[in-house]
Amino acid sequence: MTFSTPSAFADFDAFTAALAGRNPALFLDYDGTLAAIAPRPELAVMPEQARAVVRRLSALCPVAFVSGRDLDDLAGMVAVDGLVYAGSHGFDLRGPDLRRQVGVEYLPDLDDAERHLRGHLDGIAGTLVERKRFAIAIHTRQVAPPDKPAVADAVREAVETRPRLRMTGGKELFELRPNLPWDKGRAVLALLEALGLDGTGTVPIYLGDDETDEDAFRALAGLGPAAGIGIRVMETPAPTAAGWSLHDPDQAAAFLGRLADWLAAG
Ligand SMILES: [Mg+2]
Repeated sequence: MTFSTPSAFADFDAFTAALAGRNPALFLDYDGTLAAIAPRPELAVMPEQARAVVRRLSALCPVAFVSGRDLDDLAGMVAVDGLVYAGSHGFDLRGPDLRRQVGVEYLPDLDDAERHLRGHLDGIAGTLVERKRFAIAIHTRQVAPPDKPAVADAVREAVETRPRLRMTGGKELFELRPNLPWDKGRAVLALLEALGLDGTGTVPIYLGDDETDEDAFRALAGLGPAAGIGIRVMETPAPTAAGWSLHDPDQAAAFLGRLADWLAAG
């Protein structure tokens, strides 16, 4: 962990040197990484320039999106054909020749928790309970500060009485997921294997902005020295398992543009 993480944009030449002649495979988070965080999930739209860069990159190297969003929601927001999409933090994987779901046997537990949460949270203004196939997100960005502890209490009670689920957090949200040893990091490793990208000629690069992405940074770090590259998108330097940083979604898109130019130049 370090507080001084070099910028993959400002130190682009050092970044490309770290690829050491290997082909990149890109794994991209969506919210806060390529789309600015918005008051409601449907308002977090990726700029058209970023979409064009992703489309360009997808012709130059493998590109996958890995998000906490529901799979169909994610694919609809990105709207680039031919990519691999991993929704619900990697529990729900789909690509041109790929389909995998993890934790299907936990769907009744999620249904039960969803009913419980809606019953307890419907009266708290601004609370948004969002059911994804393999998770329930409780968004609190629109909740008045004095009401936030009540939301936290209700979510905690729901998960404490349901050991088959576990709670994770994000920016202004709680999330309940199957209590399985599965996360974005394990999903990335599974995708590398499923896509035949686990050889030494490929270097996986993961861009993400929050705690759930740290699982992916750690998974890549666990592949061995320089075997994978993590890039944390963050406006304020913070401890991270990623070796590189970018400032915000605009800079992430600019970085990807430079990477596309560099790859196209061969
Ligand atoms: Mg994110």
